[in-house]
Amino acid sequence: MNKIQTGVREVGLYINGEYVQARNGATFDVKNPATQEIIAKVSEATEEDVDKACRAARDAFEKGPWRSMTVAERCAKLRRMAEIILERKEEIARLDATDVGKPYHSAVQHEVPRAANNIKFFADFMEQQGGETFPMEDAYLNYTRYEPVGVAALITPWNVPFMLTTWKLGPCLAAGNTAVIKPAEMTPLSVSLLGEIAKEAGIPDGVVNVVHGLGGVVGNALTTHPEVDLVSFTGSTATGKRIMKSGADTLKKVSFELGGKAANIVFEDANLDKAIPVSIQAAFMNSGQICLAGSRILVQRSIFEEFLERFKQAAMELKVGDPQDVETKMGPVVSEEHYKKVTSYLEIAKEENATLICGGKRPDLPEYLQEGYYLEPTVYVQENSKARICQEEIFGPIVTIIPFDTEEEALRIANDTDYGLNGVVWTENLQRAHRISHAVRAGTIWVNCWFVRDLRAPFGGFKKSGMGREGGHHSLEFFTEAKNICIALK
Ligand code: NAD
Repeated sequence: MNKIQTGVREVGLYINGEYVQARNGATFDVKNPATQEIIAKVSEATEEDVDKACRAARDAFEKGPWRSMTVAERCAKLRRMAEIILERKEEIARLDATDVGKPYHSAVQHEVPRAANNIKFFADFMEQQGGETFPMEDAYLNYTRYEPVGVAALITPWNVPFMLTTWKLGPCLAAGNTAVIKPAEMTPLSVSLLGEIAKEAGIPDGVVNVVHGLGGVVGNALTTHPEVDLVSFTGSTATGKRIMKSGADTLKKVSFELGGKAANIVFEDANLDKAIPVSIQAAFMNSGQICLAGSRILVQRSIFEEFLERFKQAAMELKVGDPQDVETKMGPVVSEEHYKKVTSYLEIAKEENATLICGGKRPDLPEYLQEGYYLEPTVYVQENSKARICQEEIFGPIVTIIPFDTEEEALRIANDTDYGLNGVVWTENLQRAHRISHAVRAGTIWVNCWFVRDLRAPFGGFKKSGMGREGGHHSLEFFTEAKNICIALK
């Protein structure tokens, strides 16, 4: 199982170093959203299978060599894992392009190299960590150690499956924990390879396990399992709330990266030659299915008409098509259910009197893509920032442009949301750039750029966009327990 095949792939659960079928033999289908073809049959874990995976991870943690190896030994294996990911980058990117519907060239050029770097970065970073010593005169030696927590459940969404999973797996393993991964049920293909990649890298059996199935069943079995110590979750705010409740009885440590509705604020002194192409990317990359999407574009009224005209032209020129085609800039959305959700906002926008600028319908596509879940890049203008298309995370290729007059008004609109993951500011005025960056209530602010990441920097959300931070020492704090040791010297 789990080798590249033509036609329909069979994907097993990965438990204790081997691919296995679900105990009851059940499978579910995965479709290509560009064509609706069934591309894989995936073993659907039962609660018993999840239990087996958690126990394997527990045994590997308690008895195995993983946490007792030196950091250098462990990190060498992780670096090998990163190399294997790069060696297999075309295959991994092809799988993400096929089940997510994302453009292959973007997956192969950006996401998979970033995934490899996530693993390598945390291996390198872990090796540089030390503890503290607190000399207490000559009477005591007082020092800290950072120890692994135990078994981690890593639950990830469908929009960037492989990269986001490695963003958790890297620090989790570098710190000496073991993992049970649960990828999203719509896009499990690339993540399922992590089992065999870990094995080839020399990571002991049981350290990395992968289970598949519905969130409410398999995810819930993980978040309530007594052997799971911590849950690192990326997904919707609604699921984050559920996990908070389901993990409460066993008091799990949790880290949440949740939804967003970023304001992308364009001031009248902005360099539009930069702001427009980057705002297009921020709106439509991955068909708008990105937590960091700049889905609310706030534009100062004095440049509104010019911005709108140029943004519309650029949106209409985006090449929508087959994700496997190197020319394609935007593919379909991920599934029928999600397509219905995204397109329901076309009706909502109409009811709320938003002005449709472009898009709002299926693009013209070749015959073989006729069944795909495609929507043209869609742009609205909405003066009322309380309207649902300005408030709710649509997570599709729909962007709303909102005019404003003053800085105060821009800030009021930007902060008038339950979310606070990120914000974007376009201005040539240094003081204003700082002022707005400080005042927007969000975890990351990009000024005159978007989606520029340094893996040492904190990443996470204010308000309902998350809890905790990932990145650099923030990730390691979550995946370790600090222990203080005090030794009497006399
Ligand atoms: P989702 O919450 O529906 O699912 C995410 C994962 O959680 C899936 O693996 C799913 O099976 C699992 N799950 C669902 N219900 C569960 C439950 N009751 N218990 C345990 N696990 C459960 O989210 P999605 O639709 O896959 O992803 C889109 C969302 O993710 C958007 O809101 C987006 O903004 C967010 N997201 C956030 C970030 C970030 O870094 N902040 C990154 C990517 C995506």
